[in-house]
Amino acid sequence: DDRIISANLMMEDQAVEYSLRPRYLNEYIGQSQVKDNLKVFIEAAKLRKEALDHVLLYGPPGLGKTTLSNIIANELGVSLRTTSGPAIERPGDLAALLTNLQENDVLFIDEIHRLNRSVEEVLYPAMEDFCLDIMIGKGPSARSVRLDLPPFTLIGATTRAGLLSAPLRDRFGVVSRLEYYGTDELAFIISRSAEILDVRMVGEAAHEIALRSRGTPRIANRLLKRVRDFAQVRGDGIITSELAELALSLIAVDPLGLDRIDHKLLQAMISHYRGGPVGLDTLAATIGEESQTIEDVYEPYLMQIGFLQRTPRGRVATPLAYRHLGLPVPE
Ligand code: ADP
Repeated sequence: DDRIISANLMMEDQAVEYSLRPRYLNEYIGQSQVKDNLKVFIEAAKLRKEALDHVLLYGPPGLGKTTLSNIIANELGVSLRTTSGPAIERPGDLAALLTNLQENDVLFIDEIHRLNRSVEEVLYPAMEDFCLDIMIGKGPSARSVRLDLPPFTLIGATTRAGLLSAPLRDRFGVVSRLEYYGTDELAFIISRSAEILDVRMVGEAAHEIALRSRGTPRIANRLLKRVRDFAQVRGDGIITSELAELALSLIAVDPLGLDRIDHKLLQAMISHYRGGPVGLDTLAATIGEESQTIEDVYEPYLMQIGFLQRTPRGRVATPLAYRHLGLPVPE
């Protein structure tokens, strides 16, 4: 998945992403409701000198879940350990992570919906009572030993809260959904990033890039870097609105931030299936993408801007989508 507007993390992002990542809550733009609540919970935990309650962050990729987890640890003044659901293969892997934590540390598990069952079962008592139940020995002489853990905060991140098992979900005291960012917020993030990257840019250009960033900071930063390349090679290094527009159209991102694949998806729905309803798997096969990628990455934004609807019988393209593609809306 190497699309320029992909919200997934790409190799080239990693170095720069680190420098652009806000470190404290007051640098974290937008998501005010989530932020305001967290501020209170963090303050309270610090006053009581206790671990913060476990936090579940969910929402589409690139909206700032990892960033927020780092910030929470910084604000609490504790260390953060990062891992992901698929990386924890066996209960022993999780036990090793948990027994290495210091008091009130944060353990961040990305893609927590991908934890396997046996690991999840070790996590329950760890989250609830800060202990591990370990089996010693085999066969009839096997017995379970209880091991105390330091109090800690688990932060789970997922793009799919619906895939979490109920017992796991219920063990999070704080459940926060991250929302797509507004254009002004994205423009602010882009201006901040330009400053960090030492790029000169006029304010309207930030707005121009923000409009095409699909409500997603990671995409906003990525587009900024591409536009910067054009400014350096084709311009005099300063990002103007005209230059931003030119650069963005050259990399085939349309005025709403849709790229070739979005167009292909909508086109397929309209020309092959009369606008739907069409099943997700059928649609995926038609355009040669994976169902899960369509569901996690492409669809949420198309739904957000009202171009696509999920119905019990399948996906439907809306009149807005027809108009955007310049096609006549059927009766
Ligand atoms: P996620 O974990 O949800 O996929 P990340 O936390 O990795 O997303 O965020 C991607 C990038 O977007 C970060 O490196 C950061 O630079 C930027 N970013 C995310 N949220 C914000 C925000 N609220 N303010 C400023 N920059 C942000």
